[in-house]
Amino acid sequence: MLQFTSRFVDSTPGDPQSDRRPRQVHGALWSKVQPTPVSAPRLVAYSPEMAALLGLDEATLRSEEAVRVLSGNGLWPGMVPYAANYGGHQFGQWAGQLGDGRAISLGEMQGTDGTRYELQLKGAGPTPYSRRGDGRAVLRSSIREFLCSEAMHHLGVPTTRALSLVATGDAVIRDMFYDGNPEAEPGAIVCRVAPTFLRFGNFELCASRGDVGLLKLLADYTLKNFYPELGAPSKDTYAAFFQEVARRTARLMAHWQAVGFVHGVMNTDNMSILGLTIDYGPYGWVDDFNPGWTPNTTDAEQRRYRFGNQPGIGLWNVERLGVALLPILDEEEALVEAGLLEYERVFQAELQRRFAAKLGLSSLAQEGDLELVQGCFSWLAAQETDMTIFFRGLSRVVTAPEAPSEWPVVLREAFYGKVPDEHVARGLEWLTAWWRRTRREDVAPAEQARRMDAVNPKYVLRNWLAQEAIDAAHAGDDSKVHALLDVMRRPFEEQPGREAYAGRRPEWARSKPGCSALSCSS
Ligand code: AMP
Ligand code: MG
Repeated sequence: MLQFTSRFVDSTPGDPQSDRRPRQVHGALWSKVQPTPVSAPRLVAYSPEMAALLGLDEATLRSEEAVRVLSGNGLWPGMVPYAANYGGHQFGQWAGQLGDGRAISLGEMQGTDGTRYELQLKGAGPTPYSRRGDGRAVLRSSIREFLCSEAMHHLGVPTTRALSLVATGDAVIRDMFYDGNPEAEPGAIVCRVAPTFLRFGNFELCASRGDVGLLKLLADYTLKNFYPELGAPSKDTYAAFFQEVARRTARLMAHWQAVGFVHGVMNTDNMSILGLTIDYGPYGWVDDFNPGWTPNTTDAEQRRYRFGNQPGIGLWNVERLGVALLPILDEEEALVEAGLLEYERVFQAELQRRFAAKLGLSSLAQEGDLELVQGCFSWLAAQETDMTIFFRGLSRVVTAPEAPSEWPVVLREAFYGKVPDEHVARGLEWLTAWWRRTRREDVAPAEQARRMDAVNPKYVLRNWLAQEAIDAAHAGDDSKVHALLDVMRRPFEEQPGREAYAGRRPEWARSKPGCSALSCSS
């Protein structure tokens, strides 16, 4: 018998009303709301690792009963479904109350690791926070969230997880390009899993309304359940909490930069209070290393959330959280300042640590090291060069007995199209300097290569791979979703026969919607 708890609902103030009418909800952190049933649920995919962590075996998960729950058509005893109330800064502007407009948390269950995990359905129907939305999600965006949650986990990047992907059998109307041509698309529901889905925006909403009592209750709940090591609530504990969120966010940003992940919508309602990657919408993976790239067409003008801007936005978002916490920090702005400094310190240290490791170096402490990394970044950005293939290829070069005298074949693979000879010549200069630097490490080249392969993934969830799986699923074939999930379970290993998943973006995908340009419509 599965056991469910609901600490949030049990111990914090909720909405006294229970209707789904879109409205402002004051004085409450959540609203109870039942998922809206769907007509023909079908389990499309599930994550074996996530299921195992929850102690769910395959037979249970595939059972009619489980699929009913995972599609919002039923509940297991003990589940108390609710939608959370939060606000957020969207694209730099305060947007007021947002809340879970289509996500409904069902309850928490104990994982085999002792952690309590919350199960949340995304696309389970309207809530009081749906505003003008329908509360639903389409199959294409659900496939993307399902796959990327698990791919990120296997890369070692902190993230919310995905247990299951269910097709609802109902159509959802979306105007994908916002061009006045709405179309019916298949609907789907992802069951997401995390210790909590609380965001910066939950705290900001309380603060924006001057509800310091509610803000304090939320902070105390968060401390008690997710940061118990920080001790009993007090001004000092709140300050330590803010610093820790700042550190985790900084580490997360360094990690995204190191794997080439671009979130696409880093609004403060999409920033996890646990420092997890959360809310996979129009995200993307850089193919060519381009700091100016954003997958999000809604952000195409300003490109606020472009690859190279993520660390700065992370800091800006952390500042929004700090400002929201000021009332329980006795308005001491110096405490917020300290957290922001901590963010910058940790981000720099983490970025250096990660890129040192990617280059096979134990640190970037030697003279010229920082210039070496800078030189790498600017060279990579100068001509279209695949980030993942380039870094993965370096482990083949590090074991060469001599500094390379010509551009290695494995790295030629990384170029999109023809590059000028002088660019290759400059690359070779960089490569030679780097190779010489690796020889000043106190480790055998074969071991260096092994360590590099453990941090430079061969397989990432390239946008065009996800799109191919989506196209097949739309045509009734789920096998590409399964195959892709399976490849992404071991991103650092060579997987013979699966090289196609590690290839450059094909030309057809250069500007195809879903591959390089994604809208928020999901
Ligand atoms: P996002 O940009 O996906 O993080 O969503 C921002 C806000 O819009 C959140 O409050 C979502 O719950 C809400 N939202 C997005 N799509 C829908 C939808 N189809 N129905 C209801 N609310 C939605
Ligand atoms: Mg969101």
